[in-house]
Amino acid sequence: MSSATETNSRHSILTSLIQWFDGDHPPRPVGAARDEPDEVDWLRTVPFIFLHAGCLGIFWVGWSWTAVAVACGLYFVRMFAITGFYHRYFSHRAFRTGRVRQFLFAFIAATSAQRGPLWWADRHRHHHRHSDEEVDVHSPVRHGFLWSHIGWITSRRNFPTDYSNVRDLAKYPELVFLNRFDIIAPLSLAFALLLGGSLLARFAPQLGTSGPQLLVWGFFVSTVVLFHATSCINSLAHLIGRRRYATDDDSRNSFLLAMITLGEGWHNNHHRYMSTARQGFYWWEIDVTYYLLRLLQSIGVIHDLRPVPRAAYAGRPGNTKDPVEGMRSGNPHSQRS
Ligand SMILES: [Zn+2]
Ligand SMILES: [Zn+2]
Repeated sequence: MSSATETNSRHSILTSLIQWFDGDHPPRPVGAARDEPDEVDWLRTVPFIFLHAGCLGIFWVGWSWTAVAVACGLYFVRMFAITGFYHRYFSHRAFRTGRVRQFLFAFIAATSAQRGPLWWADRHRHHHRHSDEEVDVHSPVRHGFLWSHIGWITSRRNFPTDYSNVRDLAKYPELVFLNRFDIIAPLSLAFALLLGGSLLARFAPQLGTSGPQLLVWGFFVSTVVLFHATSCINSLAHLIGRRRYATDDDSRNSFLLAMITLGEGWHNNHHRYMSTARQGFYWWEIDVTYYLLRLLQSIGVIHDLRPVPRAAYAGRPGNTKDPVEGMRSGNPHSQRS
């Protein structure tokens, strides 16, 4: 190995290690990373592999109804934070809320170990602009099921956040901080579960749980299932289901995917009218996230939910009065805050 290659390789090992903790490392133009080879960075991916391996802990800690209930509860709450806030709020600005509230929901969503809110919104807006084109980072049609489901997130090319794509969010330093050090949120949840489980074992032994058991079920199992359910929207929602609108991508509507993701499975509806807060357009298109957003609006936590445009029901998907028309050429969100 030449000394230049050795220096490069050492640099890249160190870079990957630092990136476990600092999502904005190294400080360089985002375009430089986009030229990297589009392949798995195994060292950078170690925490992600560890997250999956942690599920095997169930063989040591056993199970209890308490642990299963905590795992399910955290799945539900965090899926809502991902779909309601990372997706519909941060990526598409489908409603409004206050600065403290947006941070709180961003933090809850960030405990899902799906990176920070600005990275998530940046990559998602990119997906809408280039859906199922060659440059789409997670198109199953272009790059296969496995890459669209999990591979793309392990690629060095997709690691940095393009802050120019999320200028409307980057003006909040607290969100930029959470985005840069995104590992803080999942680690906080893991620690809270370990501590909470230990306290329950001591003060409520009848619940039959412990710190390690709540850590394994509430963090590792719940987070891994949550990750794969969310990823199904990147992979399966462009492969299975029906197409109501003739969008220029392969997005589809699937009842099954809508069930496990609290409403995100109405993906063809969403690709056609991406800025609406609601993704199930009819009463039988169950969209739990939307029902919860309505609830939050009724108690004043959020406001100005963007409705489904009338054109969506008129069978005229080409109607240019649609407020989100021009999705390919423009931003898949309205620049408002
Ligand atoms: Zn899509
Ligand atoms: Zn979207």
